[in-house]
Parts: sequence; structure tokens; C-alpha cells
Amino acid sequence: MRFSRLFAPTLKESPADAEIPSHKLLVRAGFIRKKAAGLYDILPLGVRTLLKIEKIIREEMNRAGAQEVSLPIMHPSELWIESGRWDVYGKEMIKFKDRHERDYALGPTAEEMITDLVRKEIRSYKQLPINLYQIGKKFRDEIRPRFGLMRCREFIMKDAYSFHVNVEDAEREYWNMYETYSRIFKRMGLNFRAVEADTGEIGGKFSHEFMVIADTGEGKLVYCEKCGYAASTEKAEQAEPAIPQGRESLYKEIEEVYTPNVKSIDDVAGFLGVGASSLAKLIVIVADNKPYAILLRGDREINELKLSRLLKVKDFRFATDEEVKKFTGQEPGFLSPVNIGVPLIVDVSVAEMVNFYTGSGRKDYHLKNINWGRDFSVEQFYDVAEVKGGDRCPRCGAPLIEKRGIEVGHIFKLGTRYSEAMNCVFVDESGKERPMVMGCYGIGVTRVMAAAVEQNYDKWGIIWPVAIAPFEVEVIPVNVKDNKQMEVAENIYKGLIDKGIDTLIDDRDERAGFKFKDADLIGIPYQIVVGKKVFDGVVEVKIRRTGKKIEIPLTQAAQLVI
Ligand code: ATP
Ligand code: MG
Ligand code: MG
Ligand code: MG
Repeated sequence: MRFSRLFAPTLKESPADAEIPSHKLLVRAGFIRKKAAGLYDILPLGVRTLLKIEKIIREEMNRAGAQEVSLPIMHPSELWIESGRWDVYGKEMIKFKDRHERDYALGPTAEEMITDLVRKEIRSYKQLPINLYQIGKKFRDEIRPRFGLMRCREFIMKDAYSFHVNVEDAEREYWNMYETYSRIFKRMGLNFRAVEADTGEIGGKFSHEFMVIADTGEGKLVYCEKCGYAASTEKAEQAEPAIPQGRESLYKEIEEVYTPNVKSIDDVAGFLGVGASSLAKLIVIVADNKPYAILLRGDREINELKLSRLLKVKDFRFATDEEVKKFTGQEPGFLSPVNIGVPLIVDVSVAEMVNFYTGSGRKDYHLKNINWGRDFSVEQFYDVAEVKGGDRCPRCGAPLIEKRGIEVGHIFKLGTRYSEAMNCVFVDESGKERPMVMGCYGIGVTRVMAAAVEQNYDKWGIIWPVAIAPFEVEVIPVNVKDNKQMEVAENIYKGLIDKGIDTLIDDRDERAGFKFKDADLIGIPYQIVVGKKVFDGVVEVKIRRTGKKIEIPLTQAAQLVI
């Protein structure tokens, strides 16, 4: 492609409504233009990147045994009424009437459409399993379309749906798709995590979100580097805390879990009858003579009855000076400079302590306003992990790492939610009719493009991972009026194209600096600069990601970036 002919209107300034780097840069670099809220024109550079993203998805989905189909975007209301979602899906679904006053929707997802196809065409267990996917437009009237391509009202999704004879086979395919998605995002050069997630609108019992790690992400996730556990923060908070080894039987003994109805620090304050500001206190729970738990609540003034209700233990007292010293390794007065108060010792058995922990201790309000490194040294306490539940791995107890992320893909086990509602059945080996067991698997294709930019940019522009770059190489003749430079640049360009490498040549009669700026902004991974040194038989290759420049002999120029 010749830059002189390329429709890539680059801009010096970001659009006023752009808040995050991908939105700013995709507009500035001429990949997208806004048409209206949540609606974007995709320009040639954008289409090139999307096609590469789609190619990777197609190759991996096909390799995993899925087959591509293309279903209508116009969804007849009857199917959605059958599944029971016509009235419950909500305002995100764009509904309209045709000229005969029949109701339709613009598809926000396609479980109904695919289930209708499969129920009509597949009758026997011999035809199962089957996994069908499509890549196309989806429509969701998002309440707040924003962040450019991240949250649009019209966007491209790859959606796949699988049908099985039983739960085991559906589960096998679920993990097949899990592996496939991992390969897809790895090939795209993205830093991502697959996290356990809620099932949301689509329904079903189990799901994983694929999150691209980025500070601007709308989602929050936690992961454990020790055992590989990863979950959306929401999901992790619902998880049962890890049971320390050897404690299983103890946990089993606990029949009743105390869960005070508290959601915020103010609720706790209300419960104890004190102001929130006086709640930043330290409690050491001594169980079986060891300080197991630290809870930053308590006050000399707190009514004893209220406290025993909160802790659900009867025997407690304030720490003696010796105990303060023993459990904190500090002089008793050490807490006063930071106005924390006096440690409280609650003498309970391990079982009671665990009871407390599995109740209120799992909520994290006791950590607010306290900076462990600053106010206390964590190591001074015994096994803090056991009470901090929320920020420890529920599988192995190691510390969890919390990040923000962008949901680029989502896989679900659907079970028979749709097949039962829509009578999508097959005849099994014994001649009996049974509903098919389903799974569904989505990737936000346009969102992937934005997410990739969130992870790959610098102050000069985008830095595309090679696999999804609109072009892999840009050849830049410094002075197009110089015949020698142009001739060499053209030869390199043609050589690369012959090798099947997507190459752009900036043949515009513009200042070199102007062309370099555009090249960096658009973010093509390799630039080959053909300047004066060409008379010495040398051209320069710049690696966009590192900014590193390498002089190479002309003879090698076309071979370099393969
Ligand atoms: P979100 O939580 O961001 O609203 P979702 O959970 O509603 O997304 P899914 O129903 O799981 O989305 O759809 C599959 C994929 O489609 C998502 O993982 C995401 O990558 C993409 N996607 C969803 N909504 C949008 C949107 N409004 N704009 C662009 N991509 C989207
Ligand atoms: Mg959504
Ligand atoms: Mg979601
Ligand atoms: Mg989702």
C-alpha cells in the first residue's frame, strides 16, 4: 500500500470526548471515526487490524473443530419469546417493527437464533457434538457507550455455540474453548488472564472471562501467582476462603456461621454504637494462646454487650501491657502516635475464632483506613492470612494480586437453559428424546483492537503487536525527490510484498520528520528508513517498540523482518 493513496487521516489532537489511550490513539492514528454515541466508522487501517484479529480467531476456532456460519442480524421476536428473554433482556436490546408490524430485535447475542437452527436440523446423537460460530455485528443499546471501541452500541463479536449429548461432553468442549481462547489471545501478543466469573445476562452456571490486563479496564480481577487461581474480584469475594491444611475437620464442626449485616464501615459503627472515626482500633484475637486474628475495630468505650454480639464470643478483655508487647513486639504506647487505640484480647477457642472469621472476617471493612506497612508490621502477627480472607487466594492461601482488566472474551456453560425452553432435542442411543446440553463462547473483536492498544502504546503512538498490526513494515524514503532513495525504497517495498509481508511505503512528498511522526503514531512494528546513507549501501531499520535503530546493508533489507 502507498501512503499517498491510503485513507488514514491522522490528527495532532485527540478528540475532546476521548478519556483513555486507545480511544485517543485509534482516532488520532486514523483507524476509527465517531459517527454517533457508540457508533464508529472503521477506516482502512482499522479494518486491516480487525481482519488480522478475525483471521487468528478463525484459524484457532477451525482448528478446535468449530464451523463458521452466518446468521441474520434481524432476530424475529418469536424466538426470544420462546426462550423467555423478549421481555427480560432489557433496554440493551434494540427492538423494532417491520412494515407488517412484526416485532424484531437487532441481535445482542444469538443463543435463540442458533438453537432454532440446530433444533430443526439435528435429530440424532450421531450428529453431536457440534460447535458453530459466526463473526459479525452485535447490537446493544448500552446505557453509557464510551471509551471508543470498548463499549459500543454496534460492535463485532465472534460468538460460538456448542451442542452436546451430555454434561460431560459439554464440559470437555468448554475446556477445549478455554484452551482455544488462550491460544487466540497469546497469538495476538496480549497479556491476559482467564478468570472465574459470574454468568450475567446469558445465564448458565459457570463461566470464565478472558481479561486483558490494563489500568483503564472496567473490570477488576485477582490472581494468584502461586497456584494460578484467577477470578473477577466479584467472584473472588464470593469464594470460600482456603482452609488451612489440617483444619478441615475443625471447619466442619462449625455449624452456624455468623454473618453480621454490614456492608460498610458506617454499618459497623452503627452496630457498635460508635462513630466511624473511632473504629480504627486494633483487636488481637487470641485463640489457643496464639494471636490468630487482627481486626481493626474496638474501643474502650464500646459497650461490651454490643461487642460480644459482633464477635459472637462472650469472653473478651482489653490487652494487658504485657500482652500488647508479646503479640505486637512493641511497647504498649506504640499505637497512640497513630491514634489507633489499645489492643483488645478476645480469648476464644480456635473453633470460635474460625466461626468469627468465616462470618464477618471475610468482609474487608476491617482493612479500611489502615495501612499495614505504616501502622503495623504485618510480620509481627501470627498468620494474618487466616483472617484477611478477601485478599488471600481461596485455593492456596497465598497473597492475591489485584489488577484491572478489559473483558475481551467470555465462555459459558449453558446447560439445557435454551434447549429445554426451545425444545432443542435429540434422540439418544436408546431411542429416547433428550434436550441438548449447550455452551456458548464470545470474543469482542472490536474491543480486542482497543484492548491491544491499551497495552501497547507510548507517548508517540500505538505499538502494534506484529500479529495484529495493520502493516508489519513501513518503508520510509526520507526524500522522495531523490531518485536513488526512491528506487531503493521501491525495491525493498516490492521485495517485502513478494515475500507476502504486509508493507506500507510512505511515498508522500513530505518532510521526513512529519512522516516519522505518522509512522510512530500508526504504530507499525518495523520502519525501514531509506535516507542519504543509501549511497553507502546502508538503510536504517527502526524497531517501533524499543526505538532501537539498526543500520543494515541494503542487500539484507528485504530479508530482515521475516
Ligand atoms: P461487559 O461486561 O463489558 O458489558 P458483557 O459481559 O455484557 O460485556 P458478553 O455478553 O459476555 O459481554 O459478550 C461477549 C464479548 O463481547 C465480551 O466479552 C466483550 O468482549 C464484547 N462486548 C460486550 N459488550 C460490548 C460492547 N458494548 N462493545 C464492544 N464489545 C462488547
Ligand atoms: Mg454488557
Ligand atoms: Mg461482562
Ligand atoms: Mg461477559
